[in-house]
Amino acid sequence: MIANELTYQELAELDKKHFMHPTSPIQQQQENGPAYIFTKGDGIYLEDVHGKKVIDGMSSLWNVNIGHGRKELGIAAMEQMNKLAFSSSFATFSNEPAIRLAAKIAEVTPGDLNATFFTSGGSEANDTAYKLARHYWILKGQPEKKKIISRIKSYHGVAMGATSATGLKPFRDFTNSLAPDFYHTDNFSAKAFEEAVISEGPDTIAAFIAEPVQGAGGVHIAPEEYFKNVRNICDKYNILFITDEVITGFGRTGKYFGIEHYGVAPDLMCFAKGVTSGYAQLGGVVLSEKIYEDFKRLSTGTLLHGYTYSGHPMACAVALKNIEIIENENLIENAKNMGAEMLKGFRWIQGEREIVKNVRALGLMGAIELNSQQSAAGPLAPLIVNEAAKQGLICRSVVFDKMDILVLAPPLSINKQEIDRLVEIIHHAIYQIEQKV
Ligand code: PLP
Repeated sequence: MIANELTYQELAELDKKHFMHPTSPIQQQQENGPAYIFTKGDGIYLEDVHGKKVIDGMSSLWNVNIGHGRKELGIAAMEQMNKLAFSSSFATFSNEPAIRLAAKIAEVTPGDLNATFFTSGGSEANDTAYKLARHYWILKGQPEKKKIISRIKSYHGVAMGATSATGLKPFRDFTNSLAPDFYHTDNFSAKAFEEAVISEGPDTIAAFIAEPVQGAGGVHIAPEEYFKNVRNICDKYNILFITDEVITGFGRTGKYFGIEHYGVAPDLMCFAKGVTSGYAQLGGVVLSEKIYEDFKRLSTGTLLHGYTYSGHPMACAVALKNIEIIENENLIENAKNMGAEMLKGFRWIQGEREIVKNVRALGLMGAIELNSQQSAAGPLAPLIVNEAAKQGLICRSVVFDKMDILVLAPPLSINKQEIDRLVEIIHHAIYQIEQKV
């Protein structure tokens, strides 16, 4: 029997015993217990059971775009749940929030993206995109077009297809049997992509998938011409172009969608995270009008792909309210302006601190790359993350494949004073570590 009131110690013990955490250092978790047990959120701040307030410099998992504690979303969820908590979207059943959200997404996405297939998150969205792309070629009478090409530093999630597409090797090495027909190419070389297409055979390739800005791989921003060239190569060889906007969607980079910085549009676009700012579980894939027209014309049987929670009424109602807030409060414009301020701050830090190798940001997706060569202590970013946490800021380190990068992605609602505080803490944390190594 679990008591109604639990102390921190009791919660920590239950956590260690019963809660297997996602993407977690399992032994460290067992030794130290949870670093924080959060109980509240407000704006850019999270508060834990001890009443300690920290800046959520990662918008939790790059997803709490509007910031924490927005009661309007709770009210939207409650109203929808009280009216209709759930009904199926399978077959020809439908519900109003899903219809409205699909129409809204068609309105705000670039190019002729027009029809949405809903999922519960980003991994499901990516697996859906691969399956829809392959099914599309079956419908078009080219079933041999099934290979999916992605990039070496990419992260696309942890479902079996998404893991297989993910370029970061440790995620693929976690399991010893991946899905077939996934291939990886260089991060930003369109030429390497074209060479891969030619060597694999264009008639065997269904789709190419890329994040407009790579997130989990260390915030890598593509050169200006890269996606234009990729789009041309996809058109030339009849390959579908999928963008994974799970992080970059809904304002994160200072435009509605990350690919808009590059002046091209994909055939399919995956989204999740920012569509609800994490207040409910939702993702999806948007198909272009052209692709969807072919589905409508050629798909004579049943589309045998669907999740129980595809088009979940409560999640869609929350998304609609979240998008309303993003638009009414000009959070995309704010992400652009505050992103520029954050980058200015990073550049100042780079000028001050020797261990900083380079800095970059697009909107509120930023990175500080470190010079680990100077350190016998190994990668510096994890040390800086710990130091920043002591000073009240949560940020993240990326240390795959010899990278040593600090990444930041605060809520889009952040103001100038809060950016200054965030920069000040990072600077101080880097200074502290510089003294020690
Ligand atoms: N794609 C990208 C670019 C992501 O960053 C993530 C998650 O971080 C995913 C897909 C997977 O999304 P989810 O964790 O919602 O399954």
